Amino acid sequence: MRLGFHLSIAGSYHRALTAALSLGCQALQIFVQNPRSWRWREPRAEELAAFRQARRQAGLWPLVVHLTYLPNLAAPDPGLYRRSRERLILELRLARELGADFLVCHPGHGPPEVATFRRVADCLAAAVREVPPPPLLLLENTAGQGREIGSRPAELKLLQELSGVPLGLCLDTAHALGAGYDLGGAAGVDRLLAEVACGPGLATLRIVHLNDSPAPAGSRRDRHQHLGRGLIGLEGFRYLLGHPALAAEAVIMETPRRHPVDEWLNLLTARTLVPGAALLPPVPEQGGATERDRRLPGQGPGTDRGR
Ligand SMILES: [Zn+2]
Ligand SMILES: [Zn+2]
Repeated sequence: MRLGFHLSIAGSYHRALTAALSLGCQALQIFVQNPRSWRWREPRAEELAAFRQARRQAGLWPLVVHLTYLPNLAAPDPGLYRRSRERLILELRLARELGADFLVCHPGHGPPEVATFRRVADCLAAAVREVPPPPLLLLENTAGQGREIGSRPAELKLLQELSGVPLGLCLDTAHALGAGYDLGGAAGVDRLLAEVACGPGLATLRIVHLNDSPAPAGSRRDRHQHLGRGLIGLEGFRYLLGHPALAAEAVIMETPRRHPVDEWLNLLTARTLVPGAALLPPVPEQGGATERDRRLPGQGPGTDRGR
């Protein structure tokens, strides 16, 4: 299982790549635009090509893009819905141009009724049709804050079925805790993975967002905390990450960053939790990806896992 962070692209995409390598990450998650704005900055073709080449040389895999915060794929308001759908397509297209492997999105906010789920599914299906062959879309489980849908694996399965296109899953541990799965103990982890197995399927689970949380299980609050400093705790993470049913390929941390040393500390902690992580080289060798890296993103045995 490979380890990485969500890192800032403020200034340039290259900046996130450099930061990932200096930390010794094997995986990386970014936004492709300012996450708190609808404004769109069209990157130059040379910037995209340079990023793709640098990333290839660094052997970084997977490259994950997270949809920005403002789109609501479930929006009942037709204007916001149309805008969100257009934005998803734009971001998916840009993710593809950057060579991303996955695009993670939250299902959205809306009334808990079938029409809400249908809107999200239509949006996802339209994006996949518009951007062939796109990076694989991954639905992220939510804490269920407010009118947020997608806090249960069964809801994510419904979206997969309604969309009719291949969709994978990204499991956020802090969100799962908020949604009522007490990942601090084996029973909560077992229950969550059993629901994933019966719902979207364990093979669709490609990425884990590894975050601790100060908000109690079932609080429906989305809060992120450093690993081991929240209510999941190191034993909870160790049990989850060592679970034989968990076959995710990469772990991405979205832990708070109040000081540059925070990322180092979380990375050191994660290395003690993720089986095999310490055995991977901290900085991949220059000159290209390994055979496994080249195979996994687009083709080979990885392809049928939810594509
Ligand atoms: Zn997210
Ligand atoms: Zn997350």
